[in-house]
Amino acid sequence: MAVQLTVHRATQEIGGNCIELCASNGDRIFLDVGRPLHAGNDQQDLLPATVDRSRCATAVIISHPHQDHYGLLNELSLDWPVYCGKATEQLIQMTGAITGSTLGHSFHTWASGQPFMVGSFRITPFLTDHSAFDAHMLLIEIEGKRLLYTGDFRAHGRKASLVEAFMDAPPPDLDVLLMEGTNLGSDKPCTPESALEDDFRDLFARTAGRVFVVWSAQNIDRTVTLYRACLKAGRTLVIDLYTAEVLNMLAKYGKIPQPDWKQINVVITSAFARMYRNTGRSDFVERMARNGIAARALAGTPGKWVVMLRASLMRDFVRAGIEPCADDAWSWSMWRGYLTQPDGKSISAWFTNGGTPACHIHSSGHASASDLRAFANAMRPAALVPIHGEAWDRDAEGFPPIKRILDGELLLI
Ligand SMILES: [Zn+2]
Ligand SMILES: [Zn+2]
Repeated sequence: MAVQLTVHRATQEIGGNCIELCASNGDRIFLDVGRPLHAGNDQQDLLPATVDRSRCATAVIISHPHQDHYGLLNELSLDWPVYCGKATEQLIQMTGAITGSTLGHSFHTWASGQPFMVGSFRITPFLTDHSAFDAHMLLIEIEGKRLLYTGDFRAHGRKASLVEAFMDAPPPDLDVLLMEGTNLGSDKPCTPESALEDDFRDLFARTAGRVFVVWSAQNIDRTVTLYRACLKAGRTLVIDLYTAEVLNMLAKYGKIPQPDWKQINVVITSAFARMYRNTGRSDFVERMARNGIAARALAGTPGKWVVMLRASLMRDFVRAGIEPCADDAWSWSMWRGYLTQPDGKSISAWFTNGGTPACHIHSSGHASASDLRAFANAMRPAALVPIHGEAWDRDAEGFPPIKRILDGELLLI
């Protein structure tokens, strides 16, 4: 019997990863159980129909805390054990607490570089560079076969050196490389975070008023970039309660900007504060209030502030009488595709109505097409199984031998 590989979802699309490996003794593991990116917020029963739910999995391994990699955990039986990084577990449970969907599975956490066994599978996680905090590549060894699953990664973020070191000393004799290809066939910007830091500093320096920036609270690289640019430009970074909670929680994992650091303030807005109080976390709001400001403070000394923005915050700001103007600037520091979705449109309209100039500064959370090629060739796999991409069929030159499979198709290795 051979090892069986099935990519239940992600051979033809970006995200929604759901990959199964089954050993000849029946042990089976899942690599990620992600929510498809195109699924609506209230859509349920999204687990691929090809997943056999009738018997327990040996382990479900989560590469990183992005919804398109863990978002269907709530559709799995509670007796399927989950394995992930320590910070990943905390970020998943924290997001669940806010959305009212805490997971009851048993979580087991790992340390990067430390192999562990689940059933007959030997798994070694390697911390890597991605826009999500605590993202890992996974080396899987089973019955003399060796697979590397990249999860999502890039080579131009603040952890790029981890990817370079991995490429210098790749795992030997890889049978299969399961690699993401998000940026194949696209021209998404892949500039280093350090270059973005300079771009933001320049924007802050040339803007007379406030600079509003839309970015993901869990993109810690970007928070660091914005904070460093604030230090250079003499501005104060204004974050919301949720971002403060994320930073606070991750403090133990490295030197990450904290709500009580100089040139950081937490804006305490009515709706956010109410949400925290309603979920029994008044103490967190009180603690953050020590370094907090009210939204109306943003109307004074406008040249001081770099203000985080998201749609829910915008509504709070409007209630507090904050209106953007021509002296201000705004920056969409996320994937541009989100600008065409309802929240993106309403934010964009808010600034257009205020006559506020846009200066969108962003870098992709995923590797550039050339970095994907360099990485794949450095791994020297016998076969590359493409996933998490939409252009694998038209941009496949310059890669190791590609084994293209369809969702749900069984591959023996
Ligand atoms: Zn992804
Ligand atoms: Zn991701």
